[in-house]
Amino acid sequence: MKKDVTIVGAGLVGSLLSIYLSRRGHKVSIYERRPDMRKEKMSAGRSINLALSDRGIKALEEVGIMDAIREIAIPMHGRFIHNADGNTTFQPYGKQGQFINSVSRGELNKKLMDLAEKEGAEIFFDHKCVSIDWKANAISFETPGSGLITRNSKLIFGADGAYSAARLQHQLQHDRFQYQQYYIDFGYKELTIPPAEDGSFRMEKNALHIWPRGNYMLIALPNTDSSFTCTLFFPFDGEPSFASLNTKEKLRAFFEKTFTDAFRLMPKLEEEFFTNPTSSLVTVKCYPWIREDKFALIGDAAHAIVPFFGQGMNCGFEDCSVLNGLMEQYGDDWTTILERFQQLRKPDGDAIAELALNNFIEMRDKVADPKFLLQKKIEARLHDKYPLKWIPAYSQVTFSPQIRYSDAFRNAMKQEAIMQQVMAMPDIDRKWDSEEIEAAVLKRLTG
Ligand SMILES: Cc1cc2nc3c(=O)[nH]c(=O)nc-3n(C[C@H](O)[C@H](O)[C@H](O)COP(=O)(O)OP(=O)(O)OC[C@H]3O[C@@H](n4cnc5c(N)ncnc54)[C@H](O)[C@@H]3O)c2cc1C
Repeated sequence: MKKDVTIVGAGLVGSLLSIYLSRRGHKVSIYERRPDMRKEKMSAGRSINLALSDRGIKALEEVGIMDAIREIAIPMHGRFIHNADGNTTFQPYGKQGQFINSVSRGELNKKLMDLAEKEGAEIFFDHKCVSIDWKANAISFETPGSGLITRNSKLIFGADGAYSAARLQHQLQHDRFQYQQYYIDFGYKELTIPPAEDGSFRMEKNALHIWPRGNYMLIALPNTDSSFTCTLFFPFDGEPSFASLNTKEKLRAFFEKTFTDAFRLMPKLEEEFFTNPTSSLVTVKCYPWIREDKFALIGDAAHAIVPFFGQGMNCGFEDCSVLNGLMEQYGDDWTTILERFQQLRKPDGDAIAELALNNFIEMRDKVADPKFLLQKKIEARLHDKYPLKWIPAYSQVTFSPQIRYSDAFRNAMKQEAIMQQVMAMPDIDRKWDSEEIEAAVLKRLTG
């Protein structure tokens, strides 16, 4: 039996989800708090571009939109590291031919909305979800024109992001609802490196640039207009911090000294730094994600994570793909579909949340450490020789959608423990590519 389905939020995940549901014959209505971004200009300074990788690509391929997205995606083959001493190095993400993609959030969202509507979904903009009455299956929205409106719906998806109103309604009316919200002490601010005067990129185009500085970092992803969107991940308080860089002079002096090459490419640094918002970074874990056969959280609403593995959206897209597989398997049995969805995705959401937190330390600090680079060289060699036995954690998460996040997390912990022992072996710098090291790793892996 086909259903009238309500989705709260026409962001990346809500829009994609509607496409899968419409294709199965359901009648989908999406309610979005904001105006239609296809008609209005997006506000600057909030995660302008995103890294799209294999898990997200798999879902976009399933709904047949990936070819259009490739046209607006810029491949990034590795990390381009800008060290404090001015030297630069390039660290490939995986094997030859493996890359992640820089994609404009706005363009991606717009294309997903266009396809959602083409497939039959109706999107109601300027509709902010404010309450849900679970007994009456009624959901209410605040609108600028008509005040409060209420709709009845027997199946609702909360795809309204990290600060989900649907989740709050679920939480307030659910006995023993588990909820954990964790903010790191770092915020982020977006800045720009504009194109060169001749319209070309001012730095290597096909890479994700990182300026690792121990406790904090600057990163930059390329855009199709030849600019880069930079993101400064920085402490809120202390020295240095967003709080301490409180004058133009202090800001300039700090950037000139700390991010010298980037500073020269940022003509609007002061204006952007003091105008663009400083945003916080939250991890949200909760349980249950579902209510019988009538409600499920999906995407960031179910599992908001910090952005250091570039996986939040990819994970949300994978949610939709997994749900689609369950619809295929269980037909109209929504009790089973939602129950299985939660069983499968909750451990995966928890795993990628941990991996993402760990990756902050790797990006801001370790990528500049020669010992870490040696470890990565050993791991790459092992992967080359034993492609099925040793897959580096980054590759498991980013390039291996067949491996669940929860398995990738377990494997990563085990591999890291082995590598810690190997890196502590005497003379590792000299014999890193010897058979002795290889044998030591393999023994621990199977032991
Ligand atoms: C700085 C930063 C960088 C990131 N980089 C990456 C990356 O490189 N790769 C990656 O995979 N992920 C990345 N992410 C994560 C990614 O942005 C999110 O995982 C993704 O946007 C989640 O999609 P979503 O649709 O679940 O939520 P959102 O994109 O937040 O969409 C939610 C939608 O719901 C709407 N909404 C909210 N409240 C209501 C309400 N009450 N009623 C109606 N509508 C409502 C919102 O307006 C919005 O349109 C990054 C995140 C940040 C903060």
